Amino acid sequence: MKVTEHIQNADGKALFSFEILPPLKGQNIQCIFDTIDPLMEFNPPFIDVTYHREEYTYKDVGNGLLEKKVVKKRPGTVGICAAIQNKYKVDAVPHILCGGFTKEDTENFLIDLDFLGIDNVVALRGDAVKSEIYFKAEKNGHRYASELVTQISELNNGIYLDDELENSHTTNFCIGVGAYPEKHMEAPNFDTDLQFLKQKIDKGADYIVTQMFFDNAKFFDFVDKCRKSGIEVPIIPGLKPLTTKGQLNMIPHRFKVDLPDALVIEILKAKDNEAVKQIGIEWCIQQSKEIIAAEIPIVHYYSMGKSDTVKRVAKEVF
Ligand SMILES: Cc1cc2nc3c(=O)[nH]c(=O)nc-3n(C[C@H](O)[C@H](O)[C@H](O)COP(=O)(O)OP(=O)(O)OC[C@H]3O[C@@H](n4cnc5c(N)ncnc54)[C@H](O)[C@@H]3O)c2cc1C
Repeated sequence: MKVTEHIQNADGKALFSFEILPPLKGQNIQCIFDTIDPLMEFNPPFIDVTYHREEYTYKDVGNGLLEKKVVKKRPGTVGICAAIQNKYKVDAVPHILCGGFTKEDTENFLIDLDFLGIDNVVALRGDAVKSEIYFKAEKNGHRYASELVTQISELNNGIYLDDELENSHTTNFCIGVGAYPEKHMEAPNFDTDLQFLKQKIDKGADYIVTQMFFDNAKFFDFVDKCRKSGIEVPIIPGLKPLTTKGQLNMIPHRFKVDLPDALVIEILKAKDNEAVKQIGIEWCIQQSKEIIAAEIPIVHYYSMGKSDTVKRVAKEVF
């Protein structure tokens, strides 16, 4: 079932959903089940699975020489989605990127998803590879998520890259896209970013999932601006409970979001990470309750591969 149908059918009851990431190469599917099992009691209608592009590593091969290797540290997105649908009978939502994909790779990826009975995808550009500063599209790949949305929408209309194909099967993907209540880090300003978000919706995206945020006022303001600019699709807020003092610097650096004063002050006073976790959980519970009270029908949690804190939040909220 499509994410948008789950939201429509919720009938006033707030929905709980979450995102997991594939385990590091060398681990098995059981670690995914161990993350998901404790969260199943909150009846997630769907579970997102992130996609991780290749990275470059340099191996010392002696004589002052370095060998460049291309590695995918977290493969398995499609397999995990199939395993989730098979084991839990819950919709899995794979993320798909522009980065590292040619248009043909994208088409073949989508065909695999369609054959597996996966109805939803989140279409993202992806970041630059870790050793580079700026995002580079593949030769014959997509530069922006809006172009990826166009390709998925075309496949939904039976338009494949090979225009000689006749009577082609039409896929039926529900398409999610990412958005940034505090602006994407590369966007010159908020309004421009909003225009490009609107472009993704105009090209066929069905819903939006936001980057994590810690100040609900920013999210409500963002929703307001989206609605004023003519964006009518569901906007799913993404939340993450903080768990360590180190995240005070890591989260703003990596995700370009602000942490509110009141939260920072409490965390700085905490004597250890157990105390930080408690503060992070309580903050996230308050955020969730306020969002639900504002009649937002669903809250999405970034688990980062660990379910215990999300579970503690969900127990108080759902
Ligand atoms: C909910 C969510 C889930 C995510 N999941 C993953 C994941 O699984 N794997 C992963 O690697 N990353 C993931 N990311 C991170 C994401 O890939 C990065 O934030 C990336 O830098 C931007 O992706 P996007 O799809 O928002 O890009 P886009 O929508 O393409 O926007 C990227 C930048 O380009 C600008 N822009 C857009 N269109 C144009 C245009 N036509 N001309 C000029 N500028 C333009 C935008 O303003 C923005 O600054 C996720 C992000 C979110 C919010």
